[in-house]
Amino acid sequence: MRAFTYERASTVEAAATAAAQNPDAKFIAGGTNLLDLMKLEIEKPSHLIDVNGISLGSIEKTQDGGLRIGALVRNTDLAADETVRRDYALLSRALVAGASGQLRNKATTAGNLLQRTRCPYFYDPNQPCNKRQPGSGCSAIGGVTRQLGVVGVSDACIATHPSDMAVAMRALDAMVETVKPDGAKRAIPIADFHRLPGDTPHIETALERGEFITGVTLPAPVGGKQIYRKVRDRASYAFALVSVAAVIQPDGSGNVAVGGVAHKPWRVEAAETELPKGARAMASALLADARPTEQNKFKIRLTERTIGAVLSEARG
Ligand SMILES: Cc1cc2nc3c(=O)[nH]c(=O)nc-3n(C[C@H](O)[C@H](O)[C@H](O)COP(=O)(O)OP(=O)(O)OC[C@H]3O[C@@H](n4cnc5c(N)ncnc54)[C@H](O)[C@@H]3O)c2cc1C
Ligand code: SF4
Repeated sequence: MRAFTYERASTVEAAATAAAQNPDAKFIAGGTNLLDLMKLEIEKPSHLIDVNGISLGSIEKTQDGGLRIGALVRNTDLAADETVRRDYALLSRALVAGASGQLRNKATTAGNLLQRTRCPYFYDPNQPCNKRQPGSGCSAIGGVTRQLGVVGVSDACIATHPSDMAVAMRALDAMVETVKPDGAKRAIPIADFHRLPGDTPHIETALERGEFITGVTLPAPVGGKQIYRKVRDRASYAFALVSVAAVIQPDGSGNVAVGGVAHKPWRVEAAETELPKGARAMASALLADARPTEQNKFKIRLTERTIGAVLSEARG
């Protein structure tokens, strides 16, 4: 691990100022992803800003009947929150499908959104990887691709986003609230928060350098049956091959986002008009532009079957 300097910020303003003064700095929250990446020298911040002392650990109702989740709310606490379990059960279910109890106790809402891909070549500094080192090439293309993306991929990168929580937030139309180093605030729809790889797979989100996430807001509860179904190689402690986050209404309409298939939680609102026709119609509209490899084309059928299972469960 490379040497770095360290400070604790106790307010959002102090974190923003520290980020403005240190262009190479990274914020550290639970540290469950960042520290692993620093040990491998994939992340090389010269300065760490520890944000754990900032009071962003609460979950509160908003004036319009929605919910505001502080950036530092731990995944365990968010999953167990009474309001979340009652009104946003999808989110609670997605969270408990992720990682392990110990990791969820440390992992935060903001850190979970910003965790980096699990592409094995990204984690191997001996292999070319456009995401780790722009312009070096993509070892996955032509390599082992079973876990990797099938839709929204590019010739530069076919990685997936690994978060379960983010898939549920995409189905629930969350907004990500931030503060820039100059103090300007903004709210970014989750649909625009994560990027597709294109020619610049190292740029993964809409965040600007030093921009700090303060929280995530959810709109007023949408009701419906809320189901998160994660398919993986092991029954626990594994990332999704495919996951489906769905809110299904009594009339058969609904919101469906899919994880494990793209560089971001994958949702195509126009495809949801196909939902009442069934899983096959929905999946073929959702994955119409898929470009799978020989090794991961099974994800197309798996997505259809997982949506089918979710629809059956919703019908009871
Ligand atoms: C073995 C293992 C298994 C896992 N399995 C799963 C799984 O099945 N599903 C799943 O979804 N996840 C899984 N995870 C990932 C885990 O959920 C993430 O590591 C965790 O959510 C990251 O949160 P954190 O607070 O620890 O982030 P950190 O590691 O502290 O930070 C991650 C990134 O976010 C940035 N950051 C943190 N807070 C802020 C902020 N407020 N504003 C701006 N930037 C910020 C940091 O600078 C860093 O770049 C697994 C992790 C491990 C190690
Ligand atoms: S798929 Fe993306 S993360 Fe994986 S090796 Fe290629 S460029 Fe790197």
